[in-house]
Amino acid sequence: MYDYIVVGGGSAGSALAGRLSEINDARVLLLEAGPVDSNPYIHIPVGFLKMKGGPLTWGYKTAPQSHLNNREIPFAQARVLGGGGSINAEIFTRGCPQDYDRWANEEGCVGWSFADVLPYYVVV
Ligand SMILES: Cc1cc2nc3c(=O)[nH]c(=O)nc-3n(C[C@H](O)[C@H](O)[C@H](O)COP(=O)(O)OP(=O)(O)OC[C@H]3O[C@@H](n4cnc5c(N)ncnc54)[C@H](O)[C@@H]3O)c2cc1C
Repeated sequence: MYDYIVVGGGSAGSALAGRLSEINDARVLLLEAGPVDSNPYIHIPVGFLKMKGGPLTWGYKTAPQSHLNNREIPFAQARVLGGGGSINAEIFTRGCPQDYDRWANEEGCVGWSFADVLPYYVVV
């Protein structure tokens, strides 16, 4: 018996399950379709280029692209614990301050102002 069932142990699902498990006595089940995130390519920036056809991705391709000689382009989507956060390219881009401030001030996202999130972008 569980109080919460989270389907998908990717970036969002893992964070959500972690937060829910902080609730006293809460029983949380995290269901992830893929395996644990132990593949060495996970720890190499842009290592996903070696995994486009699996084993930690779903092996998706786009529809035939008429402007690319009808080629179907590999479209990597994670199938592994940690999701895209495990197989991503390890690139980050700091967003526009006005966007964060709008989320905080107009959309009710407490803790998401630019001043709030800036420390997470600063590499020490
Ligand atoms: C190849 C690649 C490179 C990227 N590079 C960067 C980068 O450099 N910088 C950056 O900021 N962002 C990057 N991203 C984007 C970032 O990783 C994603 O936006 C983010 O991880 C999405 O989080 P999510 O929780 O929405 O989905 P995901 O992390 O994709 O999680 C979804 C999870 O649900 C699981 N799942 C799906 N269906 C089921 C089911 N029926 N049952 C159980 N589990 C299921 C999947 O296996 C997956 O683990 C990249 C993404 C990819 C795919």
